[in-house]
Amino acid sequence: MTPLNTGSKIVLLASLVASTLVIGLKALNLLEPAELFLFDHLVRSRPSEDPDPRMTIVGITESDIRQHGWPLSDQMLAQVIDQIQRHQPQVVGLDLYRSTPRPPGSDDLITALAAPNLIAIMNVGSSQGQVPAPPTVEPNRVGFNDFPTDSDGVIRRNLMFVRSPDGGYFSFALRVVMAYAGYPPNALRAEANHLYLGDRAIPVLSAQDGGYQNVDSSGYQILLRYHTAQMPARHLSISEVLSGQFDPEWMTGNIVLIGTTAASLKDRFYTPFSFNQNEELTMPGVVIHSQMIRQLLDIVSDKPALYRVLPPWSEVLWLWGWCLAAGTMAWTIKHPNLLLISGGVLIGGLLSVGWLGVNGLVWIPLAEPITGIITAMAVVLAYKLLYRTTHDSLTGLPNREAFIGTIQQALYCRHPIGPPVIVAFMGVDRFKVINESLGHQMGDEVLQMMAQRLVQHSPPQAQVARVGGDEFALLLTHMSSAEAGNLMDHLQYALSEPLILHGQKLPSTLSIGVAISQPGLEHKPADLLRDAHTAMYRAKALGKSRFEVFAAGMLTEAVNRLQLESDLINALDNQEFLLYYQPIINLKTGELAGFESLVRWHQKERGFVLPSAFIPAAEETGLIMALGQWIFREACQQLREWHDQFPHYRHLTMSINLSNRQFGQADLINQIQAALKETQVNSHCIRLEITESMVMGDVDAAIDLMLKLKSLNLKLAIDDFGTGYSSLSYLHRFPMDTLKVDQSFVGRLEKSDEDRAIIHTILTLGQQLGMDVVAEGVETETQMAMLRQEGCDYGQGYFFAKPLPASDALALLQQQQPLGLT
Ligand code: C2E
Ligand code: CA
Ligand code: CA
Repeated sequence: MTPLNTGSKIVLLASLVASTLVIGLKALNLLEPAELFLFDHLVRSRPSEDPDPRMTIVGITESDIRQHGWPLSDQMLAQVIDQIQRHQPQVVGLDLYRSTPRPPGSDDLITALAAPNLIAIMNVGSSQGQVPAPPTVEPNRVGFNDFPTDSDGVIRRNLMFVRSPDGGYFSFALRVVMAYAGYPPNALRAEANHLYLGDRAIPVLSAQDGGYQNVDSSGYQILLRYHTAQMPARHLSISEVLSGQFDPEWMTGNIVLIGTTAASLKDRFYTPFSFNQNEELTMPGVVIHSQMIRQLLDIVSDKPALYRVLPPWSEVLWLWGWCLAAGTMAWTIKHPNLLLISGGVLIGGLLSVGWLGVNGLVWIPLAEPITGIITAMAVVLAYKLLYRTTHDSLTGLPNREAFIGTIQQALYCRHPIGPPVIVAFMGVDRFKVINESLGHQMGDEVLQMMAQRLVQHSPPQAQVARVGGDEFALLLTHMSSAEAGNLMDHLQYALSEPLILHGQKLPSTLSIGVAISQPGLEHKPADLLRDAHTAMYRAKALGKSRFEVFAAGMLTEAVNRLQLESDLINALDNQEFLLYYQPIINLKTGELAGFESLVRWHQKERGFVLPSAFIPAAEETGLIMALGQWIFREACQQLREWHDQFPHYRHLTMSINLSNRQFGQADLINQIQAALKETQVNSHCIRLEITESMVMGDVDAAIDLMLKLKSLNLKLAIDDFGTGYSSLSYLHRFPMDTLKVDQSFVGRLEKSDEDRAIIHTILTLGQQLGMDVVAEGVETETQMAMLRQEGCDYGQGYFFAKPLPASDALALLQQQQPLGLT
């Protein structure tokens, strides 16, 4: 069995929560009103049917009452019955209570009531108490007039029969239908769940059918099928009957119901329909009886008239299915508007199914699944929201806040003699360079890949988090510090495999700082993370791609660094920077060929600070942009002055270092152009030094930029050649003028033949590619001699001169003495 992914788990959970909630609400009877509301709407939307030809309603109307008074006299009623009987109806149903005589004409009425085809009514248990049937009518021609109403007072059920020790009570409608269809009273059999009428089995309603949640289902009930909003049967007034203004066909062989329809008589009941099509959704009792009769007639003649409902188990499935669909939607659809629309479509679909159901006489619960849909969506969205506030969207890892919470928990659960709580803070080395030179999208991809690798290579009990832009963290609670050390080694090793991104190989290393909780010491989670962070900075300062464990002194160091950064920010405004110039010598002629400008920081408390101490901080803070711009202008300005001052030094060059971040800067070209114009320096005497690592990554973009620089007439040099990632394969594509052999090779020249061979190779390579070669870090005469012998063009180093302040460099120019060469 494959384990479920997070999405499926959440959707499953949400659907279960939603279903359970709905079932709970159902048990509390809270959904029934909504269920009934929806049911009524669907019932109303059914197409109307024609009046039933088997039945005619004789209603006592408003004008009948005006004409004949109310109550009707016995004589008047007898007359009406006689008039009807004259047309030989199959059944006459009298929906009027007649227990006491209303003379005159009482004898006539008793005669009329004696007709065997007449069904009379009795009222059981109404607010006026029991109203018996007319005493002269035998009991098997009497039906009860009991409309069970729902919790909202609306009549939706048809109570047909109630069992009693002496045989039971028949509803008025049932009596009429049995008389019409020729069933003797004993044709009715009432069993546990069915009422049998002859061989017709009628399943009875139970308390939770359809949208009912706990309805009183006592007696033998079915859901009342309303046929139509209009009269379910043809309709006459008493006056029309008495005056004979009707088609006798309406009565002959049919059912004729007599009852009151006048509104003033208040014999009205709430139904899903309005009899008058008005706001008030009521029908007169006789019309409701006719609806019931019509339903029962259809049942005995085998027409579809019974509502069906879902069995309880499938009702649960039905609910759960919708919850699952809604949960899946909420999980997969990211866009809020789209989700809203889809949710609407889902509910719309559900209502359509409900509509089809009611039209096909199936009552499917709707409020339940709608509530379920909304709940399931809400649960998934709530989870997403919670997830978003605790997780990083790019990598899916927990974020800093969540991670601190996890550390807190780990510290709380820590056992005094158990393994310590270990926090490792990891920074992706040179991430800023990747981000700035290759773009943020590549940067994001690098972070994603790093996150993936980290998770993959961490033990399953470890918690991995993304705690900053290019920073990850690991929480370990199950291993000793020695084991953690091994793990860090393993991670360093496993993660230093170069990343392959869009066919490009990118170096990927981590600097890791580790903080370990000390037994018996109270730790704050944020402090532990800060300590690990500090240790990581230490690891970076010590040359990256390594791990350091936090030690107490590091904190002061970190504070110092912070101080350095803040001092640095003011340094430019305070004019604390100055340039030194180190001579570059033509090894063939011994003449001064140019200078390399090297920045110095003169800080009032620290004294002279070397670039290695502040350039990384300047890069980190972004100050390098402004600083680099200043350096470039200053060096150009200086060269321009010397050119002007010493006409025989017009060929003198100035090498200017570019930092990684400057190289990736968008308006580098514009800035350089502006400075060149302003200082009016001869641009082909300016040489920009860039390192190999700057042009790794997006080689084409780097070449593009170099060509733009070349188009400004500038010279380009590749600095520290031989130390970076080998770009030998690209070297011929780079429009470089000069190769600067790194001082490490020169330093070992005397000791190792290998380094001599390397320099030889580099020189040959340079010549072949038409580049000048400068050897850096020349410190001894022997080194110089060897380089000359190898045919190296230029040298730079303490042997000739240290980097000099401008005044000393000026003095040197004035001397006009070749340096170091005799
Ligand atoms: P780099 O560009 O390789 O500069 C050469 C470094 O070697 C300089 O260190 C220089 O003083 C030192 N050096 C020169 N001759 C010898 C020698 O014979 N023996 C030894 N051991 N060292 C020698 P510095 O000035 O401390 O600069 C260090 C690095 O800082 C530079 O390396 C460069 O990467 C960076 N840097 C210096 N100035 C600037 C600047 O203006 N802008 C930028 N972006 N980076 C700079
Ligand atoms: Ca340099
Ligand atoms: Ca160098």
